[in-house]
Amino acid sequence: MNSHYVIDPPIIPSLPVTGESRRFAVNRIFCVGRNYAEHAREMGHDPDREPPFFFMKPSNSIVSDGKNMTYPKLSNDVHYEIEMVVAIGKSGADIPADSALDHVYGYGVGLDMTRRDLQGEAKKMGRPWDTGKAFDQSAPCGTITPVTQCGHPSQGSIKLLVNGAVRQEGNLNQLIWNIPDTIAYLSTLFTLEPGDLIFSGTPAGVGPVKKGDLLEGSVDGLVTLHTTIV
Ligand code: MN
Repeated sequence: MNSHYVIDPPIIPSLPVTGESRRFAVNRIFCVGRNYAEHAREMGHDPDREPPFFFMKPSNSIVSDGKNMTYPKLSNDVHYEIEMVVAIGKSGADIPADSALDHVYGYGVGLDMTRRDLQGEAKKMGRPWDTGKAFDQSAPCGTITPVTQCGHPSQGSIKLLVNGAVRQEGNLNQLIWNIPDTIAYLSTLFTLEPGDLIFSGTPAGVGPVKKGDLLEGSVDGLVTLHTTIV
């Protein structure tokens, strides 16, 4: 029993770090919407006409590499979205794009899991996306590789296999808002803090999962993420 809080404080979610025994503590999770043109088109939007927009997931929605993700309640249409994840290591607001990468600790691979049916209803009614995007276990996320080891990936394959078959494949150079621009824009809206994660958007090919599916997400130069839907 601790003497400071009336309840036990929440555990800080964290991710393993390549080459480190210490972990990356997760603060907030920001997600960029429609950041690859082909994905914007498959969702019925014109990618040339939209500034970036953001939504969030709670930090405790993280599912670590190798752990199962439980198929969520109240949905019959849960989709995968493979994304490169930017791990922020240094705070800042109104960060200029040309120094934005100085704020990055490292990079990883994540899945922006989505209850597409609930998101679709929310869109139609003009309501928030939280029930579609920010549910329990909605953010499987793998090991973070420090910039000192992987540099700043700006091109290379981003790919999702489901049960060994390629379902999504793109290249980081297809990002509409690249990582420096995304950080610069996001930091005008929120003061970024160490521990923040940015899910940078998904390429085309999103689709539904079912129980038993093994998802393997990879980005060139980063650690592959594995999760099984149960
Ligand atoms: Mn997404």
